[in-house]
Amino acid sequence: MGSGNFSFWEQRWMERADQVVIGGGLVGLQTAIELKLKYPHKSVWVLERNAFGDAASLRNAGFACFGSAGEILDDISRMGEDQAFQLYEERYKGLQDLIKTYSPEKIGYEQSGGYEIFPSGSESELDHIRESLPKLNESLKNVHQQVAFVERNIKKFEMNVGETAIVSPSEGALQSHLLLRTVRHHALAVGVEIYTSMDVQSIEKHGSGGWVLRFEKSDAQILAKDLFVCTNAWALKWFPDLEVEPARGQILVTKPIPSIAFRGIFHADKGYIYFRSLGSRILIGGARNKQFAAENTFDSAVTPEIKSELVRWLNEIIVPNVNVEIDNEWSGVMGMHQKRSPIIERKEEHLYLGVRMGGMGVALSSQVAKKLVKLTD
Ligand SMILES: Cc1cc2nc3c(=O)[nH]c(=O)nc-3n(C[C@H](O)[C@H](O)[C@H](O)COP(=O)(O)OP(=O)(O)OC[C@H]3O[C@@H](n4cnc5c(N)ncnc54)[C@H](O)[C@@H]3O)c2cc1C
Repeated sequence: MGSGNFSFWEQRWMERADQVVIGGGLVGLQTAIELKLKYPHKSVWVLERNAFGDAASLRNAGFACFGSAGEILDDISRMGEDQAFQLYEERYKGLQDLIKTYSPEKIGYEQSGGYEIFPSGSESELDHIRESLPKLNESLKNVHQQVAFVERNIKKFEMNVGETAIVSPSEGALQSHLLLRTVRHHALAVGVEIYTSMDVQSIEKHGSGGWVLRFEKSDAQILAKDLFVCTNAWALKWFPDLEVEPARGQILVTKPIPSIAFRGIFHADKGYIYFRSLGSRILIGGARNKQFAAENTFDSAVTPEIKSELVRWLNEIIVPNVNVEIDNEWSGVMGMHQKRSPIIERKEEHLYLGVRMGGMGVALSSQVAKKLVKLTD
């Protein structure tokens, strides 16, 4: 810690730590837990700039998902079968880890099934998925104890869509605040120290082999022996050439609706539209593909263009006979790239990156944390 206006004691408290994680989202916290379990005698700190706000981990849709059939086919077309199936498996395993470690009750998890739906005009998409389903299921049979995708008639859901959905029975929904809080409690319980209001400005190599961190609006200074950057797209601040881009996701939640005819999580348009039941409300998000360039931003606005598209989905497709009103709206930042897999890397000595979590980072987070810490072997 710099000498600035700090007491002798403050300086001694904060001057150095063995292992410092920047970013207090799901990846940062689980990385810290893995570190503390592996190195119980070392000090492990998480430095987070906000008490609340910013973390996608607390601004997401709470889908406990690992990929609809349409999304997997889209992934295959971009990254090839091997990588696409591997990513799917990582997400599946990651989710099972979270459920096993924390229990469904603690994270508000319900295995409600994930439905891929097909509004009018997307019939050819359904045909394409149908044709590919036997091969997909065959390829994924080792991942699941049950078949990955099945067809189901969803007429009773009273949506303005085709009657057939492609369902992933193992997917579900969780409550994002319960998950992050539970993981945070776990981190504290194993001895991780978490400090907020620590907005890291710069990281610089230190002669001793560690890293010196400096902060916004403070002349504090911390020496970290090992540094783990878990700030998703915000890692660009220190590594501008990193292959990751910010991608804004916008979300709306309706006021309570008297009778919703469905439960579960839903994907449409290759996953670019997603919605779920949330008690008596509907949460809907996405539509980034309407304005890819504009949504490639760290800006936190909810924009009229995306909002009106999401409201159109509610009014015309999801609950066509209901007059919906919006109660909450927000946005969050994801870390994306055409290479869809996460960056888990030892960038140089004592410096590790766990970023680029894509649109299904909840499920991936535990696996990324484990792999990142494995790199310290
Ligand atoms: C709108 C939206 C909906 C989503 N829906 C889902 C979903 O339903 N299911 C799913 O699996 N995934 C979903 N995701 C993706 C998922 O939420 C993320 O992939 C995941 O939460 C990423 O976790 P993380 O820890 O890497 O990043 P984050 O949770 O974003 O945490 C990064 C942290 O780093 C901190 N930070 C950044 N810069 C600094 C700095 N300079 N100093 C200190 N701290 C810093 C930030 O404040 C933040 O708290 C969604 C994302 C968004 C935005």
